Amino acid sequence: MQAQATLAPSWIGNTNAQFGAETLLAVLNPATEEVLASIPVEGEAGVRAAVTAAAEAFPAWAALAPNRRRQYLHEAAAKVRANEASIAHLLTLENGKPLAQARAEVRGAAALLEEYGELAVHFRSGVQAANAGELVMQRWEPRGVSACIVPWNFPLQLCMETVAPNLAVGNTVVLKPSEKTPLATRLIVTTCFDAFPPGVCNLLLGDGPTTGDALIRHPLIETVMFIGSVGTGRRIGQTIGATTKRAILELGGKDPLIIDETVDVDQAVKFAADACFANAGQICTSTERVYVHRTIFGRFVERLAQLSRDYRVGNGLEDGVQMGPLIDDVQLTKVEMHVAQAVERGATLVSGGKRISGPGFFYLPTVMTDVNHDMLLMREETFGPIAPVMAFDDFDEAIALANDSDYGLAGIVLTTSATRVMQATQQLKVGMLKVNAPRGKAPGASSEPFKCSGLGAGYGVEVLQALTRQKSVQWRQQLV
Ligand code: NAD
Repeated sequence: MQAQATLAPSWIGNTNAQFGAETLLAVLNPATEEVLASIPVEGEAGVRAAVTAAAEAFPAWAALAPNRRRQYLHEAAAKVRANEASIAHLLTLENGKPLAQARAEVRGAAALLEEYGELAVHFRSGVQAANAGELVMQRWEPRGVSACIVPWNFPLQLCMETVAPNLAVGNTVVLKPSEKTPLATRLIVTTCFDAFPPGVCNLLLGDGPTTGDALIRHPLIETVMFIGSVGTGRRIGQTIGATTKRAILELGGKDPLIIDETVDVDQAVKFAADACFANAGQICTSTERVYVHRTIFGRFVERLAQLSRDYRVGNGLEDGVQMGPLIDDVQLTKVEMHVAQAVERGATLVSGGKRISGPGFFYLPTVMTDVNHDMLLMREETFGPIAPVMAFDDFDEAIALANDSDYGLAGIVLTTSATRVMQATQQLKVGMLKVNAPRGKAPGASSEPFKCSGLGAGYGVEVLQALTRQKSVQWRQQLV
């Protein structure tokens, strides 16, 4: 397929620039496989320019009154809201998600700019209890230039989850979006962040091994805020482990959903469909393992399969579409491989279980039973619209099954039993536990993932501390 002539250069210090990148990457529309644009893969020169611009902008940005940084973030948010339609359209084109969901993501991105803008003025240093005649102060100071590296599944929201808290506390940033979905992010940065002082937020286009790797190695990068896969997170951890840079790593999951016999089956089915199939299962906190009490297992599976067959899958620009394509052929092939291996090992396909032919990377919402923990489908992150369902006989067994995983990002329990909620709270090895509440970040909350799902609290108020350096000052009124 011919790459279109469109070039989308990086945006460095408020100017579009390209630094001799020889390689170009095509950005595809996953619903049609058409090329939307080609982007440069910036190398050392582009990284140097972006980091230098951010380092030069840092002292003045860090010295601004928090209330002024708050105003900048609110102004940017207002522009994002004003351009919701065009940004969302581009997001659907490059990511595939249904337009209504893309629009919700744009609003979510604006809300994050506003939220962290407000936190900028409420994030404060403190005074410790101290002896008479002295003060002991704790100051949280901005660290410098942060590298923000994000994935393609929620490109705009995750861009703001990394960029907004950094800007709020006074760091400057170099943002590298995924090479699969750079276009809507670029539109936001160039049209909504244009009022920021030059160099405060720089957009660097390119891939992981060339651009991302050079970015995290640059000596002026103080903090790497990374959201992405476990494999890349481990590589980044190894690279910066020998330095004094700080890494915040928010990685993949294999989230369990436990449904006990006390809940309404029809409500549980609707809940599970959304948990497994939203964004075509491509959410870090998608449900990837469903454990259902044996007494309701048959009814649950039958109704979930029926609901999955009724799902409207298609191009996200069409009205009424509930689920778009997977992001690319690599993702589609991985989903096929997990399903095929499970079937080879005895799993039963109750619904779906295949790609939709024709252009685009579409896969049917799928329900499977007779699965077990020897299958990749129950062990590795699949990132597809698959609901593998297992029966359990008692709640202890459900907890043990949920914990039998290398991952520990999040988990959900549907129950009316307070005793079981307490048990899950104490025993589930996940950073984010939801009880009768949908996947995703709890409003205003922070959490640190367990096991291989990450390092450090990536979201919420606590992230502001992680993005700053703590300094103590002991001040005696008189020299004694
Ligand atoms: P990925 O790890 O392949 O890529 C993520 C980003 O890292 C991209 O921008 C990529 O270009 C860059 N990158 C790749 N190799 C790099 C390297 N060597 N050095 C520096 N940067 C590099 O992940 P993906 O496929 O884009 O995203 C899907 C993954 O993200 C899933 O595992 C999902 O669970 C995870 N995710 C986690 C969260 C969370 O909050 N925990 C949120 C969303 C997605």
